[in-house]
Amino acid sequence: MRIKKGRFPGVYVFVDEDGSEKIATKNLVPGQKVYGERLIKFEGEEYRVWNPRRSKLAAAILNGLENFPIKPGSKVLYLGVASGTTASHVSDIVGWEGKVFGVEFSPRVLRELVPLVDERRNIVPILGDATKPEGYRALVPKVDVIFEDVAQPTQAKILIDNAKIYLKSGGYGMISVKSRSIDVTKEPGQVFKEVEKELASYFEVVERLSLEPYEKDHALFVVRKP
Ligand code: SAM
Repeated sequence: MRIKKGRFPGVYVFVDEDGSEKIATKNLVPGQKVYGERLIKFEGEEYRVWNPRRSKLAAAILNGLENFPIKPGSKVLYLGVASGTTASHVSDIVGWEGKVFGVEFSPRVLRELVPLVDERRNIVPILGDATKPEGYRALVPKVDVIFEDVAQPTQAKILIDNAKIYLKSGGYGMISVKSRSIDVTKEPGQVFKEVEKELASYFEVVERLSLEPYEKDHALFVVRKP
């Protein structure tokens, strides 16, 4: 398997045995698997295959995302970090110079992340509620990017409230929106339009992308804080 640099720093591409294009990140902790993903060795380096059915960020990249502000060295506030599936790839990308501050409000779920960060020390697990961003002020500095995947009705407001405190000006927000978490009765297109309007009240909306066919009725927005 020949692994090449992709369109974004830290994201690699390869063509799998079945001819399909896949993405991967360079494993920051060689030998460590996080969610049963495949490890591939190429030219003395180890890569972790990034599964778009397990990670909305991978789905967005494979769907042609144009703006990917997470880079080597970035500081990222990750809202809804869960057990670290996507955050582990973000950790690979930002590397030892960067940091991922991962907020999760379920103690049971966060407990699964703890063994991972023993070695993957650029992830800081935080037990906290993303709807109350003042609660983790002592632990989180100003960041370059906020990534949000919480599946809550007030998703857009959560991003805005966190950005007011933690996002540098000129920094980016990325939010995965599940239309059914906001309103099951409305057409997803209508829900996304309303979310976009709310985001635009505070941010510049840079990009909106559907996550189909990997995730039904989901969209990912990239926004910039002026
Ligand atoms: N982003 C994760 C990944 O790709 O690996 C999956 C996240 S999962 C869809 C959503 C997570 O957000 C759940 O673990 C849930 O407990 C958490 N969550 C929901 N509301 C939250 C809140 N207000 N504050 C912090 N975490 C929250």
